[in-house]
Amino acid sequence: MPNDVLVEIKGLQKHFQSFLALAGVDLTIRKGEVLCVIGPSGSGKSTLLRCINNLETYDGGRLYVEGDLIGYREKNGALWEMPEGAIARQRRSIGMVFQRFNLFRHKTALQNITEGPIHVNGISPKKAREEALLLLRRVGLEDRADSYPDNMSTGQQQRVAIARALAMKPKLMLFDEPTSALDPELVGEVLQVMRDLAAEGMTMVVVTHEIGFAQEVADRIAFMDGGRIVECDTPESLLKNPKTERTRNFLQNVW
Ligand code: ADP
Ligand code: MG
Repeated sequence: MPNDVLVEIKGLQKHFQSFLALAGVDLTIRKGEVLCVIGPSGSGKSTLLRCINNLETYDGGRLYVEGDLIGYREKNGALWEMPEGAIARQRRSIGMVFQRFNLFRHKTALQNITEGPIHVNGISPKKAREEALLLLRRVGLEDRADSYPDNMSTGQQQRVAIARALAMKPKLMLFDEPTSALDPELVGEVLQVMRDLAAEGMTMVVVTHEIGFAQEVADRIAFMDGGRIVECDTPESLLKNPKTERTRNFLQNVW
């Protein structure tokens, strides 16, 4: 595997009972790459992200992050369950931002960000606080360190959620429709933070309906349908020159 590859996915399958939610996904993501994933509701976008982040098991294929098989140990060609501790360790190096920001409501912005570094990574509270303040500045919220989520706008809460994920120093950031639950006028400020992050070289997988953002920021866009990646190409090719009827139809409705 060339060492600029961060994520390598081969023939990934995921069933929910008899329903095939991922029907053989192949995908390679390079370090520093921004991949946007688009596609209709129910096409498997969230399931794919959740498999990458070990929030969901898979039942066929292989999924590697930095050469590390995610979720399983492989022995004699078979997969074996991994101990919870090892799964938690893998999950820690991958940041995830959800549609709903799920911040701790009884903690301030700063406390939300320092929670993981202090209690999971064992960083000293002083150091965690210093780093959290830098992260708050990075997402434009240096003056909201002591605010509680309920006193912040949805856009501000989502920016805290991004800072919280970054505090764990992830090698990969996954975003699952991070702007879908925001008040429309606050979408831009969250996209700006993500744009900055991409420009700094963070490897990102972004499930989004913001086709304009995907066009501008993505190195490649993957179109998913029926648990498969139907097409994956540069924004230029995929948006202007879709190769399949299904991609064309989807784009006609959203773009
Ligand atoms: P998307 O994010 O593209 O909207 P999902 O990955 O959430 O799609 O879901 C893909 C399919 O898998 C959907 O049909 C959904 O109903 C199904 N699915 C997702 N999670 C579960 C679950 N926990 N149990 C049963 N079915 C699920
Ligand atoms: Mg989804």
